[in-house]
Amino acid sequence: MECMAVSDGGLTYAPPMFPPPATILFGNAPAKALAQVLGEHDVQLETWTEWTSPYTCLLIGGAGHLVLVDTGAGSLAPSTGRLIHNLRSAEIAPGDIDTVILTHAHPDHTGGNIDSEGKLAFPNARYVMWKSEWDFWTSDQAARKLGEHGQMMVAFAQRTLPPIRDRLDLVDRETEILPGIRAVAAPGHTPGHMAVAISSGEQQLLCISDTVLHPIHLERPEWYAVVDFAPEQVISTRRRLLNEAATGKSLVLAFHFPFPALGHVVPKGSGWRWQPINRPG
Ligand SMILES: [Zn+2]
Repeated sequence: MECMAVSDGGLTYAPPMFPPPATILFGNAPAKALAQVLGEHDVQLETWTEWTSPYTCLLIGGAGHLVLVDTGAGSLAPSTGRLIHNLRSAEIAPGDIDTVILTHAHPDHTGGNIDSEGKLAFPNARYVMWKSEWDFWTSDQAARKLGEHGQMMVAFAQRTLPPIRDRLDLVDRETEILPGIRAVAAPGHTPGHMAVAISSGEQQLLCISDTVLHPIHLERPEWYAVVDFAPEQVISTRRRLLNEAATGKSLVLAFHFPFPALGHVVPKGSGWRWQPINRPG
C-alpha cells in the first residue's frame, strides 16, 4: 500500500471571525498552565492572536483501489480547495478515486465533496462515513444541539452531504472498509467522528483526523477545543488512540498539524508528544 499526504490549503483562525487561538484550541485550560506549555513551544499566550492550520487529506493506493480520506474544505475560503489541483499534480484525476472516506462532517473535511456547481467532485467514488455522524448532520439534531456559531456548519453540511446520499456506505462498528483499511471509532470531536487505520505488511498508518487539533493536545489530552462536541468523549478517545499509536509505533496523520501532518506519537511523562517526520525535499 502506498500513502500520500495531500494538501487542501488551510485557514488562518483569528478574531474577529474566530475566537483567539487559545480559546479555540484549549478552551478549558487554566491560563497559567497554558502559558507555561505554550512557552515550551515558543509561543507567548498574550501575543498569540492567530493560528494557521493546514488541511491535509490522505490518499491511499494499493490492491486495485485508490482511496481518499476527507475532501478538504472546497470553496470555504480563498486559501482552501487546493486538493484537486494537488492530486492532478500527482497525476491523479478525480474520476480515478473509487472510495472516499469522510472522517466527519465538519466543513474542512467535506467541503470538497462538491465542485463550484454543486456536482460531485469525485464522480466515480463510493463514500464511507460513520452512521451516527451521517444521522446527526442530516437530521434536525445538529441544528438543535449546536449553538449559534454551529449553524454555519449545519448549513454547510446540508449542502455537501445530500449529493453523496445515493453512493454512501455507513459503518456503525469497527470494520474493514477495504482490505488493509479499517474504520476505527473515534467519537467526541463530533458524534460519529472516525479514525482510519491502514496496514501494509508490518507497517501501520493511523489517520486520527481531528482527534487532536494541535500538537499540545498530545501533551495535555484533557485540554479540549471549543469545537469539540463531547469533551469527555474526546479525552477518552485521545487517550485510547494516542496510546495505540505510541505502543504500535504507528505513523500518524493528524489533519490540522503542520504539513505533511505526519509523525509519531512518543510517550512523555503521563502523556505524549508529537515527533513530526522530516518533510521530503
Ligand atoms: Zn477539521
